[in-house]
Amino acid sequence: MEFEILARCPTTKARVSRMKLAHGVTALPTFMPVATQAAIKGLTAQQVEALGINLILNNTYHLNLRPGMKILKEAGGAHRFQGWNHNLLTDSGGFQLVSLSKFTKITEEGALFSSPFDGELTMLTPEESMAIQHTIGADIIMQLDDVVSSLTTGPRVGEAMWRTIRWLDRCIEAHEQSGKTDVQNLFAIVQGGLDPDLRDQCLEEMIKRRDRVAGYAIGGLSGGEEKDVFWRVIKQCADKLPDDRPRYSMGIGFAEDLLVCVALGVDMADCVFPTRTARFGVALTFNGPMNLRSAKYASDFKPITEGCPCPTCSDGTTRAMLHHIVALETAAAHALTQHNLVFQARVMGGARDAIMAGTFPQYLKTFFANYFGDDGYPEWCVNALRSVGVDLLEDRPNVKIIPGQGVKWDRAEP
Ligand SMILES: [Zn+2]
Repeated sequence: MEFEILARCPTTKARVSRMKLAHGVTALPTFMPVATQAAIKGLTAQQVEALGINLILNNTYHLNLRPGMKILKEAGGAHRFQGWNHNLLTDSGGFQLVSLSKFTKITEEGALFSSPFDGELTMLTPEESMAIQHTIGADIIMQLDDVVSSLTTGPRVGEAMWRTIRWLDRCIEAHEQSGKTDVQNLFAIVQGGLDPDLRDQCLEEMIKRRDRVAGYAIGGLSGGEEKDVFWRVIKQCADKLPDDRPRYSMGIGFAEDLLVCVALGVDMADCVFPTRTARFGVALTFNGPMNLRSAKYASDFKPITEGCPCPTCSDGTTRAMLHHIVALETAAAHALTQHNLVFQARVMGGARDAIMAGTFPQYLKTFFANYFGDDGYPEWCVNALRSVGVDLLEDRPNVKIIPGQGVKWDRAEP
């Protein structure tokens, strides 16, 4: 991997960088769409490519179950299997294993789980996770970590954090022995729950291994914790992680979360949110989410967003048409998925342009003013951005401040 910082925001911790991997250059900060089963739901690889996206995420757990490693080996890896000639990141499989398997027992050796198909007990070890990811052949691979919910408290959080460090060492050994370090890049995952001391200890240990890892992820968040705690953990990690390595915040997808994370120094994020919410009829726009199931769009003949370069908006597909087919035809999910991925790319592309131009604080203020309008700003966003020198209230002193998670939008999860 080549990683080069091109510009820094003089106010916040945001930076623009260039990450060169075996399948091309990706500009950071970026949002990575999730192609769980080697496909972004509703889109072909060629359609994703046509949207200008060049880094996506595959789920190791799902690919290991189906099509399985035998077929991926025969295909020559996941790039060839899915017809994707750009950059690819795979998770370690640990998170899905714990959240989806009915039986999972964590031991020092690895995670023991039962297959959802035949119930057979299987052990996923750090070495096995590396071997699977080597077969998949992603450009960025993640260490196996011991995952606990961000709502877990007590000694289990520390136990999982220390085990994650020991598993990182085993992943590093297995990866270095594979001879694939020049084409596949291993990322460590910082754990430690919501406890600042545990996070500090984890950071210290993982930074000691900086010469043997290509980048760092911040894990164990986005599990329902208070947002005011969430951003403080992100800031603590981003402040301490090595400046010359990419930083990946896992499971972040709401536009305001992305921009706050970028301001705190995060370079990469992934989430199923934009594609999932599309399938439930919600278009993401710079004026906030638009639920096309609402009757108010029945005779609205504008595109979702005037001037949006996505195929749906530039084809002139009307809101009325989308409303008409939204719960009935897969074409609606397809159209909204393309629009939403372009929206995410525009939010991040706009951030990169603004950082390069030295206008990122103004970009944030304009984005929040348009996105939240008079609904009010989430208090945690105001606090987080103040911590890096941007006062969202400077131009809008009378805007409402919403405590907790922020505006209760219908983001259309059923
Ligand atoms: Zn569009």
